[in-house]
Amino acid sequence: MARVIDSVVGHQDEINKLFQLKQKGRWPHAIMLVGPSGIGKKKIALGMAQALVCESSSEGCGQCGSCLRIEKLQSESLIVIEPDAELARPVIKVEKIRTLLDSLALANLASARVVIIDQAQLMNPQASNALLKTLEEPTDNVFFILLAPDVHQFLPTIRSRSQVMRFHALSYEQLKQIKPQQPDWAYRACRGRVDLLTSLASREGAEKRDESLTFLEQFLTDEEFLLDKGWRDIVKDRAWAIFCVNCWMQLIRDAIVLKTQAQKFILNTDQSERLKQFFSLSDAKLNWLGEQLVRVEKDINSNADTALAFEDLWVRYARVD
Ligand SMILES: [Zn+2]
Repeated sequence: MARVIDSVVGHQDEINKLFQLKQKGRWPHAIMLVGPSGIGKKKIALGMAQALVCESSSEGCGQCGSCLRIEKLQSESLIVIEPDAELARPVIKVEKIRTLLDSLALANLASARVVIIDQAQLMNPQASNALLKTLEEPTDNVFFILLAPDVHQFLPTIRSRSQVMRFHALSYEQLKQIKPQQPDWAYRACRGRVDLLTSLASREGAEKRDESLTFLEQFLTDEEFLLDKGWRDIVKDRAWAIFCVNCWMQLIRDAIVLKTQAQKFILNTDQSERLKQFFSLSDAKLNWLGEQLVRVEKDINSNADTALAFEDLWVRYARVD
């Protein structure tokens, strides 16, 4: 058994800064750990939770009862809130936040409690407002750690009550350290995210990627794209849609790179045949698509209707010269 923070790969500067806040007695009531999913934010949050509740060390010892219970996610001092994944559009509802606030009000004030809200951007407005009240009138010894991909997905009122710490995607070497012996293209195409690496490198993931790239070809070439009902059913699966947008981003990026730079910068090293097809697309179209996919990803992450997102993208893409 050890400290959770010691199992984190990378992010050393950010982790040092977090510990400095703690050591200087400036640990905030609410902090947002912001950055792509699958890079270790939750582990870092758990590591900091250990530091906040540890019985013997201000950095967390990893050995005491409090630290061990945090590691096993069985601590009364730790509350982890996540979106309801079973919903078609995962969301953190106000009921969950209210239940949380009730339990915080009841519990013993003497010991520190840590609330980790994972994918906190999925709190609906009522949930955000319920949380805001607590952030405005913080209770001693209650610490909120909000995890999210992007700070701009929060209400400004929540943002202004939280300290923000940004985290970046992992490097090729760090990914290899965390998950060795995966296909080279998967390390390159996973955007520095372990969750994406895992799904890309699985057989199912490789098939999904192939489907999503075939779908990209359809998007780019089918003049009656909007009439086809088939893809709408497929993109209803939100996880698939997000995965798909990621694959598209990577391939479009490669197409742009291939037009201007050498082959060695290509991420999807196994897709050279597909990439050749993109040579006929104008730079303007490729660049536009590259930019817009970032927006589509944000929209889908913020619970936009997936079919509408692709439809809207196609309509606007068709107008680009
Ligand atoms: Zn400890």
